Amino acid sequence: MAASDQRRSRQRDEESPSKPNKKKKASKNPEANLLFNLNSCSKSKDLSAALALYDAAVTSSEVRLNQQHFQTLLYLCSASISEPSLQSLAIDRGFQVFDRMVSSGISPNEASVTSVARLAAAKGDGDYAFKIVKDFASVGGVSVPRLRTYAPALLCFCEKLEAEKGYEVEEHMDAAGIALEEAEISALLKVSAATSREKKVYRYLQKLRENVGCVCEETSKVVEEWFCGEKAGEVSDDNGIGSDVEMLREAVLKNGGGWHGHGWVGEGKWVVKRGNVSSTGKCLSCSEQLGCVDANEVETQKFVDSLVALAMERKAKMNSCDKKVDFSEFQEWLEKHGEYEAIVDGANIGLYQQNFADGGFSLPQLEAVVKELYHKSGNRKWPLILLHKKRVRTLLENSSHRNLVEEWINNGVLYATPPGSNDDWYWLYAAAKLKCLLVTNDEMRDHIFELLGTSFFQKWKERHQVRYTFTKGNLKLEMPPPFSVVIQESEKGSWHVPVSCQNSVESSRTWMCISRKSVLDSHKVNGKLGTSGNEKKILSSCNKSLLSSCDAASFHDYINELFSTVRCLNPKRSPPLIIVSYLLTVVVVGFRSR
Ligand SMILES: [Zn+2]
Repeated sequence: MAASDQRRSRQRDEESPSKPNKKKKASKNPEANLLFNLNSCSKSKDLSAALALYDAAVTSSEVRLNQQHFQTLLYLCSASISEPSLQSLAIDRGFQVFDRMVSSGISPNEASVTSVARLAAAKGDGDYAFKIVKDFASVGGVSVPRLRTYAPALLCFCEKLEAEKGYEVEEHMDAAGIALEEAEISALLKVSAATSREKKVYRYLQKLRENVGCVCEETSKVVEEWFCGEKAGEVSDDNGIGSDVEMLREAVLKNGGGWHGHGWVGEGKWVVKRGNVSSTGKCLSCSEQLGCVDANEVETQKFVDSLVALAMERKAKMNSCDKKVDFSEFQEWLEKHGEYEAIVDGANIGLYQQNFADGGFSLPQLEAVVKELYHKSGNRKWPLILLHKKRVRTLLENSSHRNLVEEWINNGVLYATPPGSNDDWYWLYAAAKLKCLLVTNDEMRDHIFELLGTSFFQKWKERHQVRYTFTKGNLKLEMPPPFSVVIQESEKGSWHVPVSCQNSVESSRTWMCISRKSVLDSHKVNGKLGTSGNEKKILSSCNKSLLSSCDAASFHDYINELFSTVRCLNPKRSPPLIIVSYLLTVVVVGFRSR
């Protein structure tokens, strides 16, 4: 018998004696009997039968109704409101049951309060649905309100266009530390749009972006209705921030990409289109490049700080001051040398697929990764490899590896982590600090990584981790996706909203493309270059690497290369005149300064 089967059989043996006992007990005890029967009604959704049992129990002197009885009945009533023929019965009797519960001195728990709030909302009485939750929350105790407890009141107010009351419920939830989900944010967005509160609409769009990212079809219609409505066409930026492209661009960068949060930009009617996005992240409706959304500066700094604290704490546990110094030394070293675009987890790559007879540390695998990263880098930058000192020493002792390893050390491509240290901390710290790529197949599920906050760390890995494979000796790097599938607000003021799809093929995903003509026009009038963050990055890399590297290159070569960069960004159209003139200026200035 397999171990798991044995385990199962043991479980059966342990369970079996108690079962007949339970049944025997149930048949003797009228309370347990009633509960059993009510649960059966609940499973078969038989409200009438459950109420008949309840009525009989109330008139009988044998049964003492307890919290579980009331809870089961209330749940069944609230679950019956979606059935039109049962709705009024469920509501009327549900409140009767609840009144009796309270008058019997039984305090309702969260599940009961949720059921009653649902009944009240079904009656259209949001005030009562909210009041009962507030009363329950004020009592305190082990059982506390949850999202589902507040949701009936919030949705009821929104449905009845009582916006202010809806916001009040949200405030209450905020104070209780309960986060809204898509249904609630969507309802608040809808009521704000319907009552022409443009600032609130903006706020809830941002909330959707932050908490949901990819919206369901229903929410996408709410978004569409707002932008197609009359009021949306009238909203404009009060302080003229829309014309300050530079400020908006900085805000986008500071936020980690994908939004600026400074309010509506531009004026006039919005154009809402539904279309697709290319595999490189270009909107096929308006040609705008979608961004990579990273954690913002504050979050990233917090992440770096907690990494340092954890690394230090671990070393302190090892009871040696030297170790603490080691990590600080690395921090200082990185401060001086920190111009890397990628960090390489050397051990992970060298030991990849080496668990065969003659397997050991594969330097050629590591070399392949390093070279590939160098060639992929727009600025021709070498990555930084982190490897244990002991491993480095062994490699240096090998005459066929020595030259390469020495060259890496001399050029700052390799940093040897000190004995007794955990190199995980070094590569993770370096990648987080420099906000660059990290090449490793390590899933980073080590329990200590969990201390870094799961949701942030997940997001960070998505944007920074590069996985790799070697198939028959051929390296393939799996770079992070070139753009993020989340709601995006561009520095030009347009919005892109991805809609959830069953189909897992990313290219077939529907994106709502929402822009207004005046935004682009106003940028032209102001004479400012309306390039996106990505275009700017690539252009600036053109400046640095092209103008400083190849001495023999002719003016003609520069122009060709710069034009092909622009074509990459925008393959279907010829480069816009404004970008061309900018590039020419860059080239001429570059030549003059040499
Ligand atoms: Zn678009």
